Amino acid sequence: MVDVRGVHKSYGPTQVLRGVDLRVRAGEVTVVLGPSGSGKSTLLRSINHLEKVNRGWISIDGELIGYRRSGGKLYELKEKDILRQRTHIGFVFQNFNLFPHLTVIENIIEAPVSVLRRPRREAVRAAERLLARVGLADKADAHPRQLSGGQQQRVAIARALALEPKVLLFDEPTSALDPELVGEVLDVIKDLARTGTTMIIVTHEIGFAREVADTVVFMDGGVVLEQGPPDAVLDQPRHERTRAFLSKVL
Ligand code: ATP
Ligand code: MG
Repeated sequence: MVDVRGVHKSYGPTQVLRGVDLRVRAGEVTVVLGPSGSGKSTLLRSINHLEKVNRGWISIDGELIGYRRSGGKLYELKEKDILRQRTHIGFVFQNFNLFPHLTVIENIIEAPVSVLRRPRREAVRAAERLLARVGLADKADAHPRQLSGGQQQRVAIARALALEPKVLLFDEPTSALDPELVGEVLDVIKDLARTGTTMIIVTHEIGFAREVADTVVFMDGGVVLEQGPPDAVLDQPRHERTRAFLSKVL
């Protein structure tokens, strides 16, 4: 499980996270909502230690992320240990971030082969299974530029899954897509939810949140303002800020 405790993050004088607490149990889907600038991306990036937090800590399955504790103090891990931790934390970005010069299958096997030292043949077979799962079995040898945005995002999801992550983080995975391509990406994520993949998903797709989320979290001003089951947070929000936000996105 993912445990975020009292996390603070500032950029210079700008306080972006002001004490975020969040727990995500294994196999559960958490959808994070909130206005622009509320700190959603910063939170995801902190979970993956792409951002160093200033206070508080984050652990996954009991292992501190980015730090080790010694004599009551936290010391940052070495780069190679941080990279090892990151292999267990899948990250799917708004803009896909595929390697443009590699084919689809090469994109997917890159990290398993170079980081996990999997034999290439084995990595290719696993990648082919993942491509079938995201409905792209016939695109193994295509280059990203030959694919639609929805197809590229499905490859990005397959690439993240290839590392068998403990948790998958999504930062607005459909917001760069043409409307008619959103559904195919959300369908893949719904399928992952059904099979018990632990996920934290930042999105403005409220209908999707209602359908897949075990927990909906509303962030505002760098804190979690409210959280709970989708029907509670979406239909009976306790805070005026949540109501105001929902009235704009619904
Ligand atoms: P959006 O919905 O627009 O994606 P968000 O909730 O993801 O917003 P963040 O990207 O986490 O918000 O940013 C929160 C605040 O932190 C913003 O005010 C942003 O300008 C600031 N910020 C983010 N990254 C940096 C950075 N590298 N340096 C300085 N300020 C930053
Ligand atoms: Mg963001």
